[in-house]
Amino acid sequence: MSRSQHDVVVVGAGFAGLSAARALARRGYDVVLLEARDRVGGRTHTRYLSNGTQIDLGGQWLGPTQETMYALAAEFGIATFPTASHGSPVYRIGDRQLEEPPAAVDRLLQRVDNLARDIDPDRPWASANAAYWDSITLRGWLDAQDVGTPDERALVGRMLAGGLQTVEAAEVSMLGLLFYVRSGNGVERLLNMRGGAQQDRVFGGPQAIAQAMADSLGSEVVRHNQRARRVEWDTGVTVHTDTHTFPARQLVMAIPAHIVPELDFSPPLPVTKQIALRSLLPGIGLKLHLVYPTPFWREAGLSGQSNHSTGSITETVDNTVPGDEHGVLTGFAYGVDALALRRLSPTQRPQAVVESLLPVFGQQLREFTDFVEFDWSTESLTQGCFSARFGTHGWMSHGADLMAVTGPLHWAGTEYATVWNGYFEGAVRSGEAAARAVAEQL
Ligand SMILES: Cc1cc2nc3c(=O)[nH]c(=O)nc-3n(C[C@H](O)[C@H](O)[C@H](O)COP(=O)(O)OP(=O)(O)OC[C@H]3O[C@@H](n4cnc5c(N)ncnc54)[C@H](O)[C@@H]3O)c2cc1C
Repeated sequence: MSRSQHDVVVVGAGFAGLSAARALARRGYDVVLLEARDRVGGRTHTRYLSNGTQIDLGGQWLGPTQETMYALAAEFGIATFPTASHGSPVYRIGDRQLEEPPAAVDRLLQRVDNLARDIDPDRPWASANAAYWDSITLRGWLDAQDVGTPDERALVGRMLAGGLQTVEAAEVSMLGLLFYVRSGNGVERLLNMRGGAQQDRVFGGPQAIAQAMADSLGSEVVRHNQRARRVEWDTGVTVHTDTHTFPARQLVMAIPAHIVPELDFSPPLPVTKQIALRSLLPGIGLKLHLVYPTPFWREAGLSGQSNHSTGSITETVDNTVPGDEHGVLTGFAYGVDALALRRLSPTQRPQAVVESLLPVFGQQLREFTDFVEFDWSTESLTQGCFSARFGTHGWMSHGADLMAVTGPLHWAGTEYATVWNGYFEGAVRSGEAAARAVAEQL
């Protein structure tokens, strides 16, 4: 037994759980926050190479309208810096290389933006034409458009289905995409660097913000290496880890929604909740980093930002940190391309990444000093990248059940967020919303 009953036990010390715990502690409640790992921050994790180069293995960017994340960074005196962007981006569409997206690509993105405005982010299943949008995929919608060449439509599919949900356009529910776009304040906000979700980075990585949040709670509250295994609930709750038992009046479950079914609930969760959670599909993206003595692409006038209609890598970005002479080029692979890379050996993988980017960055690309990869799908406490989503007809069938509070059990995490779903900001806001709901019940 941990000790006498807490007011609230929060499970999972990512941004959602940390925010819920802080909001409850601020209201004067006795909170304990259980984290299975020996670190906090969940899907954000920063590693330093032996030469000191900062590599953000997980989430890294902040952008305008993500006010709570900027406020947290400011509260703890953690500085942000603009994402490197020293030259021209490249849009590689079939064999063409352009500095700006062609008009057809912009028009298709604009159409998606317009459709997303009609979605109710709090209840996407209740939006106009929701059943229709949830019955078709992004790929189906793109194929029916009278705009653009097949390569241009493929690029749009990769930018939206890949760049936002890390899978193929043929896997993405159109309602799921429109909800995601609405919750992230539109296509431009989501895709852009300047003025968009990729605008700023964090010195020390966003994990530094998570660590500061944990420090503000203290080690009495944040308990590392406490993996919740079993949850007993009726009017109150008891959470069992491998070594301790934590009784409380209310619970905030802030672990990735798609791995909740791995816990043993007694009594079992309502069957509709179980089905909703099991219907979530984790993303399968890969984030890979090539490190060089210098950011050599800048000499050729390139920004390092590139988008590709085909090939292993869908997009790249210059991930060099100011003050570090080393250049970091980070690439993202999604859907079948991410699966194909996983089938290669560790020595074949960097070669395949380099080959796919040679047409844009040239032979110097072969001269990397480090290749850093981290597969979030192999992490048992995450099992996906970036976040989880419903497939077709998921929001219609299971959306309300996913969001519902279950007696003393409250749900937090980016997967439940109605604003900036899939992002740190959504995780923080969902944690704060869960804390408000808990406070009402207490
Ligand atoms: C490669 C990658 C790139 C991304 N890029 C960005 C980006 O640039 N900007 C952005 O805003 N977002 C980005 N994201 C998404 C962002 O990281 C997530 O939305 C956010 O971190 C989710 O926070 P969370 O608190 O909901 O979940 P998590 O961060 O997953 O936290 C859940 C916590 O629960 C713990 N846990 C799991 N099971 C148990 C258990 N049984 N008992 C106790 N603890 C448990 C985990 O260890 C973890 O600490 C990215 C994600 C990835 C993977």
